[in-house]
Amino acid sequence: MLLKAENLQKQFGNTIVLKDISLEVNEGEVVAIIGPSGSGKSTLLRCLTQLEKVDKGRINVCGKQMVETIQNKAVYADYKTLHDIILDVGLVFQNFNLFPHYSVLKNIVDAQMNVLGIAKDKAKSKAMELLTKMNLKDRAGAYPCELSGGQQQRIAIARALALNPRILFFDEPTSALDPELTGEILKVIRSLAEEKMTMVIVTHEMSFAKDVADRVIFMDAGVIVEEGTPDAVFSNT
Ligand code: ADP
Ligand code: ADP
Repeated sequence: MLLKAENLQKQFGNTIVLKDISLEVNEGEVVAIIGPSGSGKSTLLRCLTQLEKVDKGRINVCGKQMVETIQNKAVYADYKTLHDIILDVGLVFQNFNLFPHYSVLKNIVDAQMNVLGIAKDKAKSKAMELLTKMNLKDRAGAYPCELSGGQQQRIAIARALALNPRILFFDEPTSALDPELTGEILKVIRSLAEEKMTMVIVTHEMSFAKDVADRVIFMDAGVIVEEGTPDAVFSNT
């Protein structure tokens, strides 16, 4: 098992956003998290990737304990452990989060040099390999603003993959895109699924969840109300 979260609770002020969430993700599995706006999907993803801290619960990522609850309070691992976890976890955001003043190539090369500490030449050849795979080899010298949203998101995916994550998280990866560009991203995610990349995808695109997910988690008001194969979940909704 690559990810195990138990009894996660999170509130902002008096608003309870995650009530008692437990979930597991196995190696090679694609899990889609769906549900109405405001149900807590994004907060859950942010808690699983440490962009946000839980109030209570336990999270284990790739065999390392990130959070546990001691005397009713969440206690986080020390910095070194968290740093190790960051090396295992990749993230793709809704708004791509590319550096606008860096070329496509530099976005991918710098991430590898900074996070993995590898040499520039090696980072460059890995970046070109991934750009080729994303069908964007000829845009290596372009700046993000010169690319379509779908192309920018494919660059963001290439950058995440360049860091060799064991698990890749997507937060609404297509919500800033037109329907035709959404299809481009779906194709990329489908091919990653075929390569058995472990992925957790928060999405409002039902077609996405139906098409690539092995398992669908349906959230509402901070709880998981349903969980199962796409066929099982969508036959009830
Ligand atoms: P979803 O991703 O399902 O749309 P979110 O996780 O974004 O849901 O939000 C769940 C609830 O938590 C919403 O009511 C939202 O306003 C609230 N919320 C999210 N982040 C914060 C925050 N940083 N501070 C206060 N409330 C927040
Ligand atoms: P998303 O649905 O992608 O989370 P939002 O517009 O709901 O987008 O939130 C954007 C950012 O604002 C997120 O970081 C979220 O955690 C935060 N946020 C959302 N709702 C609130 C809120 N009620 N108070 C403070 N911050 C919030």
